[in-house]
Amino acid sequence: MAKDYYEVLGVSKNASDDEIKKAYRKLAKKWHPDANPDNRKEAEEKFKEVGEAYSVLSDSQKRKNYDQFGSAEGSPFGSGFEGGFGGFGNGFGGFGNGSYTYTTSGFGFEDPINDFVSSIFGGGRRRTRTANAPQKGLDLEYNMDISFEESFTGVEKEITINKSVICDDCKGSGAKAGTTVETCPICHGTGQVKKTQTIGGFATFQTVGPCENCRATGKVIKEPCETCKGKGTVRKNVKIKFNVPAGTVNGQTIKIAERGEPGKNGGANGDLYVYIKVKKSNIFNRVGDDVELTIPITITQATLGAKLKIPTVGGKDVDYDISEGTQSGERFTIKGKGFKKARSNSSGDLIFTVQVQTPKRLSKEQRELFVKLAQTMNEQPPVKKRGIFG
Ligand SMILES: [Zn+2]
Ligand SMILES: [Zn+2]
Repeated sequence: MAKDYYEVLGVSKNASDDEIKKAYRKLAKKWHPDANPDNRKEAEEKFKEVGEAYSVLSDSQKRKNYDQFGSAEGSPFGSGFEGGFGGFGNGFGGFGNGSYTYTTSGFGFEDPINDFVSSIFGGGRRRTRTANAPQKGLDLEYNMDISFEESFTGVEKEITINKSVICDDCKGSGAKAGTTVETCPICHGTGQVKKTQTIGGFATFQTVGPCENCRATGKVIKEPCETCKGKGTVRKNVKIKFNVPAGTVNGQTIKIAERGEPGKNGGANGDLYVYIKVKKSNIFNRVGDDVELTIPITITQATLGAKLKIPTVGGKDVDYDISEGTQSGERFTIKGKGFKKARSNSSGDLIFTVQVQTPKRLSKEQRELFVKLAQTMNEQPPVKKRGIFG
């Protein structure tokens, strides 16, 4: 059904050109598809409708014709517009992906949409992509498990990843040795072509879309390189060495600059991100930069004191004397034997907690000794009272 264009723009039948232009600008901004991400479909419809109305009412001759036919069904404009604007919609579909740019020159004015586009995207962030602009390569990700000890000492790792690399045979041009890459004659190297569409026989507008002749690359390869089939890159297993620094924590990401996919048109390579998973240790726990562990001791070691051997991560045991009367659960700190702190030369501590093991099996001799001992201290100790501040 044909719409009343005056109604669409919200102006009266005798609105001035200026009023029509103002109304259009307002509505075009309001219904611009990029300003309505939540109801894009509806916005595209409205935006089309508004554009359609303006394309007619802004032109005195077309407006005159339209006024004669009115908005009644069966107007010669009705079906023509429907068909014509189908293509318009497609143009917008692509717009969101950044591959299309919309120009308004077909509507007979230049400023409103362009102003608006730059205001949505912020200064300089126009989503226009030109074929020859340098483009950064894609980033790659790699998951890696390392041992607790490796996270403590740091380790050099070598991984093999399958990634794109610049083709050696054509040095990335995609053209067979001895041949050259030519600038696309259709888009003159821009990768984009303007398409002019005419609606209803009179209203024209332009969309800019990717050049099909060169698949938006701006270049035509007559004889493709056989190694890479003209792509300029080949997939290869690539070995990459890097350091996992001492003190690396579980979940840490190591960025290896420029080892991702190759960039295009001289753009930088992407980066490689290695996600580190630190395996658990059977003995040690990491708490911040400290290493914690539990040391079992006998009842006599606790009672009489002892020289203990305390294991360290990836190093020699450390001798440590506990004094007589050590309680189960008591914590001891060995300074500087923990993880290396990030951006610092100092390290955390090694903290061990002693746990007194009550013997479950005794030899006959041990049992007799315990019985003798018990006769000297067979009273249950009083229940410990907490101090007011403890
Ligand atoms: Zn090649
Ligand atoms: Zn082209």
